[in-house]
Order: sequence, then structure tokens, then C-alpha cells
Amino acid sequence: YLESKDINVWFGERHVLKNVSLQFPSNEVTALIGPSGCGKSTFIRTLNRMHELISGAGLAGSVLLDGQDIYGEEVDPTSVRLRVGMVFQKPNPFPTMSIKENVLSGLKLSGRKNEISDDLVETSLKRASMWTEVKDRLNDPAISLSGGQQQRLCIARSLAMNPEVLLMDEPCSALDPGSTRRIEETILELKESMSIVIVTHNMQQAQRVSDKTAFFLAEDGNPGRVVEFGDTEDVFNKPIDPRTNDYVNGHF
Ligand code: ATP
Ligand code: MG
Repeated sequence: YLESKDINVWFGERHVLKNVSLQFPSNEVTALIGPSGCGKSTFIRTLNRMHELISGAGLAGSVLLDGQDIYGEEVDPTSVRLRVGMVFQKPNPFPTMSIKENVLSGLKLSGRKNEISDDLVETSLKRASMWTEVKDRLNDPAISLSGGQQQRLCIARSLAMNPEVLLMDEPCSALDPGSTRRIEETILELKESMSIVIVTHNMQQAQRVSDKTAFFLAEDGNPGRVVEFGDTEDVFNKPIDPRTNDYVNGHF
């Protein structure tokens, strides 16, 4: 169970996110939507401490993973990033490493070498819905895969760590419709065993995959904040805030 409490972010003097409190229970997909620049990527990075890798970035508030603040002094950031995986807009496998090595790379880097096995490679690639496509070419370099396959490889790499939460920042925006559909199917299967947070500009995608939707908005010079959060069906079909209705219908 992941939860943010009153998250505020500054870049230098600039306040870019204000008081974001959201809950991400297991077995639920939450979509983060909102116009460009409203702070969705900034927010999703606070959920696994990737935020602190950006220099000059300030943070207030807390993120609780099963009740423990991931920003606590005693908490190792790497262990957080293993429990809360991240997939980015642009597929970023290690290009010259083989498909198999990519799947195992997170475990190697984190010193969990004892968990490495062929079974894990197979299971992770199966969970990312690409086992049948690559089972005969596991030693080929990742660069030999298509963009959509590279993205599913990145998902498999995250899954090999057995994360409790998977964060996805526009995972399909560089992909064709078929790859997008396969990733959406994967998301729906994965949610049986974890919590998923996905940033998307695709309103149909948000409705296809998510249970909950949070609408972020940064109004003229003000920090981004959550204007509306609720069941996806309600946010799209009977939003409380008129600005939500305008946004989801493409009026700004
Ligand atoms: P998009 O939909 O275009 O991806 P977003 O909602 O993800 O947008 P963010 O990337 O989170 O928006 O950016 C939120 C605000 O924070 C923007 O005004 C952006 O310019 C600013 N910002 C983001 N990263 C940094 C950074 N590293 N340094 C300074 N400002 C930043
Ligand atoms: Mg973004």
C-alpha cells in the first residue's frame, strides 16, 4: 500500500506541486492525468525517491509504503526503488546487453545475485507478455528489439525485482497501437499482484486501464495540485469540477 501525504515540490524557488495526497492500494491502477507541465512526472518521481536525484529539487511531505515513510533517515533509497519500480516514456534497456542480461540487471546491480535464475527470466518475461516472442533469442542484444518490445523488456526488468508498486510515466506514448494494447493487457494482469500508477495523456487509455484517476492542474503560475481524484468512471462521466470535464473532453 502506497500513499502520499501533502507532497510539495520546489525547483529552486519555484513551487511546482502543492499538497498532493493520494492513496494507491494494491490491486488498483491509478491514472495521473493533466496538461503538460502540471507536475505529473515530478510527482511520480517522488513516489520512489527518484526525485532526489534531481539537483536543486526540494520536497516536503511524506510517502508511506506500508505505513513507513520512504524518506525516513534510516531508509536506503535503493531498497525503495526496488520495491517501487519505474518505467519511463522512452524505453531504456541497456542496448548492448542481451535480453536475458537486461531482465537480470536490476538484481545484479542491487546485489541480489542469489535470486538470479533462468526461471526468473522466464517468469518476468511472461508477466511482461513477451516470453513467446523472445524465448529463442534471449542472448540477442536488447537493441535488436522493436521499440514496443524494448518497453516490455523494461517492464520485465522491473518485474524481476518483484516490486510492490509499478510506476509508469507515459509508457506507451512512443509506441504503436498494437504495442500499446499489449502493454495495457499486461497492466491489467499485473494489477492482480501489485499497485500501479500510470501517467497518461491518452484519455481512452486512462479509462481502459485505471480504477482511479487523479486530475492535476497548475493554474497560471500556481503550483500543480490535484483538482479531482476518484473512480475513473466518475472522473470521466460525472466530474465534480467543471475544469475536469473541460480537460477530459479536450477543451484545453
Ligand atoms: P508533461 O505532461 O509534459 O510530461 P508533467 O506534468 O510531467 O508534464 P513535469 O515534468 O512534472 O510536468 O514538470 C512540472 C513543472 O516543473 C514544469 O513547470 C517544469 O518546467 C518544472 N520542472 C520539471 N523538472 C524540473 C527540473 N529538473 N528543474 C527545474 N524545473 C523542473
Ligand atoms: Mg511528464
